[in-house]
Amino acid sequence: MVLAMSIQQQSFLRDTMRRLNLTREAFSSRIGVSRRALDTWLLPAESQEFRRMPEIVERFVSEILASAAHTSTQSVYSTSDLSITHEGKPCLLSVDQFSRGSAEALFRLADVMQPIARRQKISRVLEGAVLGNLFFEASTRTRVSFGAAFCRLGGSVCDTTGFTFSSMAKGESIYDTSRVLSGYVDALVVRHPDQGSVAEFARATNIPVLNAGDGPGEHPSQALLDLYTIQREFSRLGKIVDGAHIAIVGDLKYGRTVHSLSKLLALYSGIKFTLIAPAELEMPAHIIERIAVNGNVVEQTSDLVNGLRGADVVYATRIQKERFANETIEGYTPEFQINQALVNSVCGPDTLIMHPLPRDSRPGANDLGTDLLHDPRLAIFRQTDNGIPVRMALFASLLGVADQVPHSLRDASWKAPRFIGPDDALFHGMDG
Ligand code: ASP
Repeated sequence: MVLAMSIQQQSFLRDTMRRLNLTREAFSSRIGVSRRALDTWLLPAESQEFRRMPEIVERFVSEILASAAHTSTQSVYSTSDLSITHEGKPCLLSVDQFSRGSAEALFRLADVMQPIARRQKISRVLEGAVLGNLFFEASTRTRVSFGAAFCRLGGSVCDTTGFTFSSMAKGESIYDTSRVLSGYVDALVVRHPDQGSVAEFARATNIPVLNAGDGPGEHPSQALLDLYTIQREFSRLGKIVDGAHIAIVGDLKYGRTVHSLSKLLALYSGIKFTLIAPAELEMPAHIIERIAVNGNVVEQTSDLVNGLRGADVVYATRIQKERFANETIEGYTPEFQINQALVNSVCGPDTLIMHPLPRDSRPGANDLGTDLLHDPRLAIFRQTDNGIPVRMALFASLLGVADQVPHSLRDASWKAPRFIGPDDALFHGMDG
């Protein structure tokens, strides 16, 4: 009982801070209480120091939220400022389609999806709809989570994987493939090795097309779930995205996730980007140019230890060897590995460790270390879990059912474990 109440109180306060874009410090002074009092309301119920917030404060906070909903263009609950289109058609090709306001509107919709993603509620708003999942490159997370997100809204999924079993192996064009499949399904999720290819799919159809990775180009849904994760984690930690220090490590040349994520983060202001890469794999100049705006600072280095110091987020990536042209580098050298010892020596207690996954766990790869599994700073599985509500929000918006979702919710009839993973942090619980 106390547990449920504390969880409710925590998420209410955290969501409010996130929606109002206030740090813990700023929020406590906005509601006229001491920072210390606010901290005790945000503690888990197990803690001796936990306190229930007075009812009058709760009412005041609700009023602030409601008035923000009326006065702000970024209304707190509405998703009407969310329209994901490209050349007049509903589709998701690039993070360039987002403003800060529309990204945050998508995240509010993802919040609405959380009880479904967490298996407490069900919805059938996409009942009867069929998704075509076309993956011409390796994928586990993106393919399955797009599929699961569509199913959790009541739709069904048809998959095709690899060139070998598709008519593209017989020389069929992207135009023909896209037009033919549009007669069968209601939306297409496409991953393809060539940059710009998913846009070509989109030009050949009027159904929504979602870019699940176009070679070294972009991976917009990954970047959206990454930013959503950063925001949620920051609201737990009392931080905001503006002014954050983000260290991005690894193959920044071919890593499409970091291309999309850095452009999305550049919608915020005062960000310090530390881009850490081996010399052959530096971030392309056109992306650096794009993110050096809004008072952001961009630093480039190949010194991992110093680059990580003071970072709020460490975002590590895999070496994308499959995309190499003339580069000779095999994997990270050992001194490039992010592992428990390094994190303990240079990162703070609140630093988030992220990775789009997969991480290369083979000997000698020196990708993100597996010895961090028990460290609550490791946010990689919170990240993957957030892929479901964010992708559900994308489908609901692109297929025009977003407003129906809140009224469509019913209780789920089966029982899910409170924690999905054996190493999940306390705040990662299904009701947290
Ligand atoms: N899964 C991500 C992608 O498809 C990251 C990676 O493969 O390294 O881009």
